[in-house]
Amino acid sequence: MPRTAFLVDVDNTLLDNDGAKNEMDRRVASLLGEQGRAEFWETYETVRSELSVVDIPLTLGRFVAKHPGLGPELADLFMRFPFREFVYPSSLEVLQRLSGFGVVAIVSDGDAIYQSVKIYRSGLGQAVDGLVIVVPHKEESLRQIAAASAAERFVVVDDKPAVIERISARSPIPVASIFVRQGKYAATVAPGEWSGASMTVSSISDLLDFDLESIASMARQPVRDSTTA
Ligand SMILES: [Mg+2]
Repeated sequence: MPRTAFLVDVDNTLLDNDGAKNEMDRRVASLLGEQGRAEFWETYETVRSELSVVDIPLTLGRFVAKHPGLGPELADLFMRFPFREFVYPSSLEVLQRLSGFGVVAIVSDGDAIYQSVKIYRSGLGQAVDGLVIVVPHKEESLRQIAAASAAERFVVVDDKPAVIERISARSPIPVASIFVRQGKYAATVAPGEWSGASMTVSSISDLLDFDLESIASMARQPVRDSTTA
């Protein structure tokens, strides 16, 4: 049987990031007031559009530079946030089940500092025995991820349709995908089975029951044109 690596996303796949972000927003407002809150998220969006990825430490640095009187509370609010409370109830059990079948890597887009802290503070990093990969855009690091996991095929587990599409188009090895309908990005595609993925599930807990071999056997080599090889 070919060696399978599950590339499991974090935000809105293993952890309710929409819920966590709402709670962060509430805490930011209570710390900075309405005006500070608006300015903070504006800085966050500016950084995101400049780097094309969320970068919390850079956002904090810029905001604090403009508000030098601020104490450590804002940084602590993000870096010491109780992420564990936002892990979906069956996530750890699902990771354990997947690891009985193949290599399980947590692969997340984001900045290496904040996103790694989130993944370990939530307990998710420990659940995959430290195989945690944080990169700005996962579809750009697939060769490295395949080599690092010694994988012959991938099964991508993700809530973002666009990410599944890009990985499915660019993978250097055969890839199957599981679209997890959780959170705001998943809600952008019409209800029901989504044709962009090998399989659609309504919740991560559905992976407690599925036949993993039949999912992995759906892995296909992307069809490339010569300009993207
Ligand atoms: Mg996600």
